[in-house]
Amino acid sequence: MDASGLGSAAAVLWDIDGTLLTSGGVAARAFLDAVEQVTGRPPVPDGIEFGGRIDPEIATLLLASIDHDAEHVPAVLARLHDLVQAQVDRMGEHTRVFPGVRDLVDRLADAKIRQTVVTGNIRSVAEVKLGAAGLVPPIELEVGGFGDSGTTRVEVARASLEALFGADWPARVGETWIIGDTPRDLACAQALGVRCALVATGRTELQALQGLGADVVLAGLEVPQDARLLWGS
Ligand SMILES: [Mg+2]
Repeated sequence: MDASGLGSAAAVLWDIDGTLLTSGGVAARAFLDAVEQVTGRPPVPDGIEFGGRIDPEIATLLLASIDHDAEHVPAVLARLHDLVQAQVDRMGEHTRVFPGVRDLVDRLADAKIRQTVVTGNIRSVAEVKLGAAGLVPPIELEVGGFGDSGTTRVEVARASLEALFGADWPARVGETWIIGDTPRDLACAQALGVRCALVATGRTELQALQGLGADVVLAGLEVPQDARLLWGS
């Protein structure tokens, strides 16, 4: 196992929301609308902590907020897909890539380090967001893990590792990184033995990310000393 930084990684698995970009609430609004259109009732998101959850979990929680059970999850996700596809232009207008992301993505690409996503987003929504951000390529979608790749974030990440490395994936986790913005990204990485960098560009503050056991915790990817720490130089 190589204990140095990202510069010697075999692959980087990016979280999307709060890590690479924000879609300015457009996708979140579509999710609430999807639940309302399927059930006829507006969900009550107050008090639900969504960060790092995968879309089937979010659908389940939103349905529970209006006393509907999880049997409606597939219908909600199908409606979410439709609503986001109908708003591709709007997503493009509201999507903002966080400072330092593009430089790091390009630097990893120059170093021939493979990049994909491990995200709670269903694949079609992830594609719209990453397309709006102009990050595909070098980020590869075919080997990604998406909200519809499993029932938990760990299953989603495992799907990506299998796509990247095949059955040999357990031997490669020490040279593979997850970069995320929530304690759930870290818990996922730890469950699989993957290395983890957390960046405080999402809703979780830097202080709340520190002391959890991530390999690196960063204020932002544009911070020069943080970028050096992450790269391992
Ligand atoms: Mg996130």
